[in-house]
Amino acid sequence: YGDPSQKIDYVFKVVLIGDSAVGKSQILARFARNEFSLDSKATIGVEFQTRTLVIEHKSVKAQIWDTAGQERYRAVTSAYYRGAVGAMLVYDITKRQTFDHIPRWLDELRGHADKNIVIILIGNKSDLENQRAVPAEDAKEFAQKEGLFFLETSALESTNVETAFLTVLTEIFNFVN
Ligand code: GDP
Ligand code: MG
Repeated sequence: YGDPSQKIDYVFKVVLIGDSAVGKSQILARFARNEFSLDSKATIGVEFQTRTLVIEHKSVKAQIWDTAGQERYRAVTSAYYRGAVGAMLVYDITKRQTFDHIPRWLDELRGHADKNIVIILIGNKSDLENQRAVPAEDAKEFAQKEGLFFLETSALESTNVETAFLTVLTEIFNFVN
């Protein structure tokens, strides 16, 4: 998980957005600390976590921002989006409503963020296949139409979390190089 003494070539700010309880904080905990908790408290206070990784022999510090329980419509402030070069738009595959709200989150993101921001749509809780309410095909189609990357993840089982972050960070890296 990175040598803290190493020199940093890039710092990329990435924001997590999406409805409450879709698993944003647990996705971040999995990526930044390889931790997961089943009874995670609602996030308090704007916070970010970092993890440094190597992409094409350069050290990239990912600074991942998590919402401060500001998930109500339009409650996320513009400061949250400022300087973000990547975004992870998260819904819960077992809660149709969280997917139906994605266009709204995307509008808000596009209204606040840089036009070149790299966005990945994430269907989290893929371990709950027996409770699935959003077909992967629907999300894939939406992502294609909107020009977003798309992956299903499980923060619980650690499925695709690393891949999701690497997809965004590598795309940003390629854009700035
Ligand atoms: P947030 O409000 O979007 O930050 O959501 P949290 O990260 O706090 O997660 C909400 C609830 O969903 C918590 O009880 C988590 O333990 C649970 N959760 C998060 N990710 C997963 C997952 O991948 N699978 C399952 N089964 N539960 C998850
Ligand atoms: Mg949270």
